[in-house]
Amino acid sequence: MEFHTTYSDNNYTIYVDNGILNETLQKYTSQYNQVFYIIDSHVYDLHEEKFTNFDTVIKVPRGESFKTIENTIAVIDELLDQNIKRNDLVVVIGGGATGDGGAFVSSITLRGVDYIHVPTTLLAHDSAIGGKTAINRPHGKNLVGTFYRPNAVIYDLDFFETLPEEEVLSGFGEVIKHAMLAGKESINRLVDETKDGLDITRLNEFILYGIKTKMYYVSVDEKEDNLRKFLNLGHTLGHALEYSFKLKHGHAVVLGIIGSLYISNKMYNDIFDLESLISYLKKIGYDLSPLKEMNTTEMIHYMSSDKKNMRKSFIGYIILREYGHPELIEISTSDLEALLNEMKAII
Ligand code: NAD
Ligand code: ZN
Repeated sequence: MEFHTTYSDNNYTIYVDNGILNETLQKYTSQYNQVFYIIDSHVYDLHEEKFTNFDTVIKVPRGESFKTIENTIAVIDELLDQNIKRNDLVVVIGGGATGDGGAFVSSITLRGVDYIHVPTTLLAHDSAIGGKTAINRPHGKNLVGTFYRPNAVIYDLDFFETLPEEEVLSGFGEVIKHAMLAGKESINRLVDETKDGLDITRLNEFILYGIKTKMYYVSVDEKEDNLRKFLNLGHTLGHALEYSFKLKHGHAVVLGIIGSLYISNKMYNDIFDLESLISYLKKIGYDLSPLKEMNTTEMIHYMSSDKKNMRKSFIGYIILREYGHPELIEISTSDLEALLNEMKAII
């Protein structure tokens, strides 16, 4: 399956299928003098046989540990040592963290070289689309970065074979979010298809829907001035829980979505059947206990520094009017804290 982005210029193709890596890569690499491969070291160890004909491989610390200024500068120095030229190609292979860091490196080396992202996690159906690059600072996650589009995204789903369950559940959190943003039919079908457990080999259809939903939002609002904010559904409380309980990102997003729907129910007359949703989420493997155990004062403290906030003592929060209709509301910190405490009773 191929998607084409719909920006006004600089469009690129997103390829999604099993077993497409080498054949699709070749279409691009044959056009360049030199190609440099930045690969998550853990992914390299697990899938070495896929990379045997790559010439210049730079293995990088796995996952999030790559996203530091020191580690990304070390890769830039290595590229410069190897005499990278402005018209060479960088191929970044790994999950969302390797993608963010590798794209950042590509965007600033020689003021920008071409790059292709090869995502290897389920969560990367989200992170690989949208052209945001990022590294972390001690002050917080993703605080330094650029907007920089890849020349292609090659999503070979064969990589999923080695994903541990916690990574599948984390990536599935964003799949759920995209289905809720797409509308009632999408989320109902998703729940119906997965109610007996997550089988990663049967999720292709929903990964494609997720990519389409994300592509829609980023093509209408690349720089997050407006509609792209809705992709933050579940992320306000989610980021606070992620930080406080050291959760996987998509797991925290699922918990954050429960918080959003709880507020939606308070505002709009119980439109969501939260009880069924909660039992479905528990059944497929999500641990919802952080929602019961969280210190709500601490959560409010984290949420108060969120980029979406416009007024002091109010928090910008994405809720759903119904599936497919997100809204940004402002809620006072005291009301939000009271609601989150009240919500503990239904977990
Ligand atoms: P990740 O890259 O940290 O991967 C998670 C773990 O899975 C790592 O330990 C990695 O080594 C391992 N892994 C990767 N592929 C594997 C495979 N095929 N088999 C076995 N193990 C594998 O993270 P992620 O969950 O893919 O993405 C999270 C990151 O994405 C965060 O840094 C987040 O900030 C970023 N993100 C970016 C955007 C964006 O728009 N740029 C959007 C969402 C998330
Ligand atoms: Zn997210």
